[in-house]
Amino acid sequence: MNKEAFIKELTKLNINLTKEQLNQLDTYYHLLVEENKKYNLTAITEEKDVYLKHFYDSLTIVKGIKLTNQYLCDIGTGAGFPGMVLKIAFPELKIDLLDATNKKCEFLKMVIDKLNLKDINVINARCEEYALTTREKYDLVTSRAVAPLKHLLEYSIPLLKINGTFISLKSNLKEEMENIDNYYQKLFLSDEKIIKFKLPYEESNRTLYIINKKRTTPSVYPRTYSQIKKKAI
Ligand code: SAM
Repeated sequence: MNKEAFIKELTKLNINLTKEQLNQLDTYYHLLVEENKKYNLTAITEEKDVYLKHFYDSLTIVKGIKLTNQYLCDIGTGAGFPGMVLKIAFPELKIDLLDATNKKCEFLKMVIDKLNLKDINVINARCEEYALTTREKYDLVTSRAVAPLKHLLEYSIPLLKINGTFISLKSNLKEEMENIDNYYQKLFLSDEKIIKFKLPYEESNRTLYIINKKRTTPSVYPRTYSQIKKKAI
């Protein structure tokens, strides 16, 4: 997807980026490929692929949620997807980018500095540990390509305020939804929304999974990572 096609596809999502925002994405792209030569940030490096599979893909979240000035945490953000792209496109969002890998966090700090972004922080932590002490703080929690849905729910939902929304970008969800009802009951989740679509141009499948938190998460969640992996809740 070249930049013209990117702009055109975004107008279909009702996103109209300014010249400055497009320049910020361009700088972000160049920092990504430069730093990627030193350590692995992404397997996707061709400009047209980054614009489609990282930048455009990150922004497809607007198919499922209206973004305004919410406080958002992007867990397992890696090189900043979707969180950094959302911050560039929707500067009024307040964002925490969380990742377990220190090198990726250092990269994110460099991008924030170079683009002079405000109201955006980087947190180097594992989500299941961060969620032990950070509870009911965010309006939105996002994730893309991080972990199985059940794991994500267990350590993301505690971070959300009551009535907050969890959003996950997935390619396919079918198997991950098996026996999910127990999670909905124990974590007080409802109003599930699943939105399926195809990425333009390459036509690969995408699924947006959205769920709302209705009550305070019991303090027993999240369990430790080994417990999360070993046994469903
Ligand atoms: N979200 C980015 C994307 O879509 O390109 C990165 C995806 S990458 C496959 C997964 C990232 O999640 C890695 O950077 C990893 O360090 C991070 N991660 C995995 N499990 C995590 C956890 N429990 N807490 C925090 N970060 C985690």
